[in-house]
Amino acid sequence: MTYMNKVLLIYTGGTIGMNRNPRTGALEPFNFESLLSNVPELQQVSTEIATFQFNPPIDSSDMSPERWVDLAHVITNNYNLYDGFVILHGTDTMAYTASALSYMLENLTKPVILTGSQLPIGQVRTDGKENVITSIEIASAKYQDGKAMVPEVCIYFNGHLMRGNRTTKQSADNFNAFESFNYGHLADAGVNINYHTSRILMPDYSKSVQPRFVLDPSVIVFTVFPGIQEDLIRHVLMSPKLRSIVMRTYGSGNAPQYPWLMNALKEATGKGKIIVNISQCMAGSVEMGRYDTGYQLKEAGVISGHDSTVESAVTKLMYLQGIYSDWHQVKNYMQRSIRGEISI
Ligand code: ASP
Repeated sequence: MTYMNKVLLIYTGGTIGMNRNPRTGALEPFNFESLLSNVPELQQVSTEIATFQFNPPIDSSDMSPERWVDLAHVITNNYNLYDGFVILHGTDTMAYTASALSYMLENLTKPVILTGSQLPIGQVRTDGKENVITSIEIASAKYQDGKAMVPEVCIYFNGHLMRGNRTTKQSADNFNAFESFNYGHLADAGVNINYHTSRILMPDYSKSVQPRFVLDPSVIVFTVFPGIQEDLIRHVLMSPKLRSIVMRTYGSGNAPQYPWLMNALKEATGKGKIIVNISQCMAGSVEMGRYDTGYQLKEAGVISGHDSTVESAVTKLMYLQGIYSDWHQVKNYMQRSIRGEISI
């Protein structure tokens, strides 16, 4: 067969490639070759598929910034050899990896599609086969002029293609494991794959891909809740190593108006710590001017995360902190959309 397109299939681990350990009954990663032999359909696909395996494959709960750097190296070292990349990944942290890569791969002009499954690929009712086969088709889809149809880091799952840094895992059971609550799907796959081209980013083709391999994970996520304790929060906020906080607030960005909390936040922002306000709600946006409880946060120097996911805010902070030692710069870029991650 002469192939029109070439895709690199990168296997990091996750349920898609797991087997049940007969002794413990728990799912464990197994070899990539066995994974491919479970999808003989791939031999009929008109795209040439090369493979790369993480050694050892991991449950994505063990994913880390160091492994994101490894992934970014694999993609950029092979960038000119392939039309697109498909990453097989566990679902648990897939939205973090997709978000991180979207920032790390600056000026991306080729598709990087993450997928996985809820049931191992060897099981009769697996959702993995369709996810992998359609991801490969999307990763190799090009316009007549040779440009990729989806030059973005995305998650494809259960018929939906979503911008990676807009996506969150929504279910541990359903095949519909991911959703992009604040941004429309980039494509929907039924009988045909229907691309929503107006939602897809248009890269600047005059620039070449610029990978960033340095991340600074001095970030913490804290969730407000009724009964939150001053000494515990102060302890976290004043940690000398901490550079930024993703604060998960109520509704449109509201927090309890305890004077100690406002003072602690003000002290932290005054020392150059960046506090980003992200709603605990799945859908909708932070608007700190809507209620007085949100306005107080703004007064304390907290910045709006707009309609960002937590996964996107955390990885964007790691990426910006890896580039800039000056907190003003990090704060400035946090309030701009740099990869289509927030609607402003
Ligand atoms: N624990 C698994 C992982 O994230 C779950 C999955 O793949 O769906 O690796």
